[in-house]
Amino acid sequence: MMGSQNIRLSTICCSDRRMDILDTNCMLDTPINKYEIVCEECKFPNIDKIPEPYYIAKNRNFSGIEIIEADLGNLFISDRLKQVFDILLPNQCSYRKTFVEGSTITTKWWLAIPNNLVLNGEVKKSVKRCINCNQPLYAHPGSQYEFWENDIENSFDIIKSINWYSTDDKDWKKSWIGRDLFLSVRLISLLKKIGAKGIYQNAFSKYKQLTKTEKLWVELSLSNISMLKNNIKNEVTIEAINNFKTAFSIVEVSNLKVEYFEKKFKIIVNEITKSICNIKKGQQINIGFESPFVIEKIENWKSTKTKTKLIAFAFDNFGNSLLFDPKDKNCSLYYYDHETMIYDLVQSSILNLTDE
Ligand SMILES: [Zn+2]
Repeated sequence: MMGSQNIRLSTICCSDRRMDILDTNCMLDTPINKYEIVCEECKFPNIDKIPEPYYIAKNRNFSGIEIIEADLGNLFISDRLKQVFDILLPNQCSYRKTFVEGSTITTKWWLAIPNNLVLNGEVKKSVKRCINCNQPLYAHPGSQYEFWENDIENSFDIIKSINWYSTDDKDWKKSWIGRDLFLSVRLISLLKKIGAKGIYQNAFSKYKQLTKTEKLWVELSLSNISMLKNNIKNEVTIEAINNFKTAFSIVEVSNLKVEYFEKKFKIIVNEITKSICNIKKGQQINIGFESPFVIEKIENWKSTKTKTKLIAFAFDNFGNSLLFDPKDKNCSLYYYDHETMIYDLVQSSILNLTDE
């Protein structure tokens, strides 16, 4: 696919509610990740150096979407989309794990950082610049830009802008800055076809319809990723829950255990959690590590102290544990490594355990 010229791209938009930017009273937008400052005079950040670890705000773990804009021209994508990107767009993005704000808990979101940049706008000569680093002191995309392109042609499917804009037209520091993210119209169409929700093509884009070549690319790409389809689940089905119950020999669901769980952890259970509460003590879960994890009795389950409560329910001989997120509709599964003290996502749903 590389080398094909004239790929048509347009800027995208998504929900105003963002996962790594907070709206506060005094400031319009506040990024939750702190960027390195490159200029002491104007405090301009290093917009190409991604903060590490990269955090997502608490309680912003949106469900139902798989792709959403991240700060400064990057993207958050689901595990499924990362697999799609790996096949169709190799080397166009770099990926980072993300963490729940202020914690060592990984989230199910990947930060996708476009590797290719494009200049799609230039600020007016009249805009004041920093005497030290020459960055504009403000750069409102409407009035203070000489030009600003929402549609471009290039040889890549994902690109972010070199230039940046500010929400405030007098001082960028009063709010925050942003960069454009371009996706090819063929990729936007493909995402729609595979039901990956969360972003839209700019409504003012002049690329309204796909060309024949673009349609062909979409068809070809669909067949290239077709083998992914079967092993990726989006929906919690009764069938999947029943498979889970069979795999863990759960014959009946006792309400007593469910009530105990709700009282102890102050969390309302969902259908999957109900089943987890009823797994018999002593059963083993093997996720391919040295030693299997053994289910503890519910009285010994522990919750993390973080705002995203994870429940440890199975332990190994070395002090590591398996945890699930009871507030996640898919009950994502985590692994806690006692040496590094890091929580790592192992399955986007505990139901996937029964796939093998
Ligand atoms: Zn400066």
